[in-house]
Amino acid sequence: MTLNPNFQALKASYLFADIGKKVREYQAANPGADVIRLGIGDVTRPLPRASIEAMHKAVDDMARAETFVGYPTDAGIHFLEDAVIADYALRGVALAQDEIFLSDGAKSDTGNIGDIFGTDNVVAVCDPVYPVYVDTNVMAGRKIILLPCNAENDFAPPLPGEHADIVYLCSPNNPTGTAMDAAQLKAWVDWANAHGSVLLYDGAYEAFITEGLPRSIFEIPGARTCAIEFRSFSKTAGFTGVRCAYTVVPKELQCGGVSVNALWGRRQATKFNGVSYITQRGAEATFTPEGRAQVRANIAYYLNNAGTIRAGLQSLGFRVWGGVNSPYVWFAAKHGMGSWELFDLLLNEVQVVGTPGSGFGPAGKGYFRLTGFGTAERTAEAVERIRGRLG
Ligand code: PLP
Repeated sequence: MTLNPNFQALKASYLFADIGKKVREYQAANPGADVIRLGIGDVTRPLPRASIEAMHKAVDDMARAETFVGYPTDAGIHFLEDAVIADYALRGVALAQDEIFLSDGAKSDTGNIGDIFGTDNVVAVCDPVYPVYVDTNVMAGRKIILLPCNAENDFAPPLPGEHADIVYLCSPNNPTGTAMDAAQLKAWVDWANAHGSVLLYDGAYEAFITEGLPRSIFEIPGARTCAIEFRSFSKTAGFTGVRCAYTVVPKELQCGGVSVNALWGRRQATKFNGVSYITQRGAEATFTPEGRAQVRANIAYYLNNAGTIRAGLQSLGFRVWGGVNSPYVWFAAKHGMGSWELFDLLLNEVQVVGTPGSGFGPAGKGYFRLTGFGTAERTAEAVERIRGRLG
């Protein structure tokens, strides 16, 4: 027996495990401490009412032979794909049912998509980056190059200066909170088409866009021959614990005359048995008028928190990105302080937990991420505590 040697090349521990350990140690040493967690990216608001009602009804469907659904993939049900198609159509994007692949998460899909690409491909990721893109490609043994995003380029990923076959883009971005405009996306689409490269576009946070930017890479002409898009109900509608997402693979996307859509379909049919019927009904309900209004209200709540953090940090003289089209607020530590130094200071002195930017890649050094996923009250209090210490 042998093991996949690439796993030895993974960084030993995961960022959030390191943070969790530090917070646990702090709490053990300071049992009464009132810690505010603005570090992790999980949602806190309950599911939209429309989804809850739809899921209750779906449970009842499962109780009757006439409405019972078995393997969703064999049942010939496509109501969720149809709802997704209608949603894209609102943005002028036409998709076919078999271009939409439902799944249990954008994390799985952005990782699993590598199954259909050769391990000799060069992969480009933004730096700082959502760690899943890096770790899954390390597991596969692919060469990874970094696209440095920094204050000089306003955290917009620069086109690669060397050859790259596969590029992960994430907009609105985790961790920096920045979002690409149509011109920036067009430059990437043109580059990918010119180089025969594929863009893996992670739109997990598209619902947070407020500034009239594109919500899908497929709003950009030419994207159907070079892009795959990942979307999720996790941050959009609070499905982090329910699990539902989808990936769009256009039929025009080919590699050496082979359809990438067909390959992904084959991969999914072999390794994945579909999203539970109850979950699909819950997700479908987010596209109803009530569901949409409830989703919008939750997003507005998180964006308001992000705005509180953003304005508070700006008033303290920090350089801040994100928080406008994103729940994430990204800022530069002052006076040459390191990311982990700031983490320790905020935890030990004001009991606020954030995420050190350096955990997302070398270009994150000296930066820090706070998220709008807390409650409004605790978020405002965290900002006041930071003001009290760093103001
Ligand atoms: N993509 C990005 C950029 C994320 O930040 C996250 C979660 O934090 C995901 C994907 C995962 O989404 P899901 O819950 O659908 O797996």
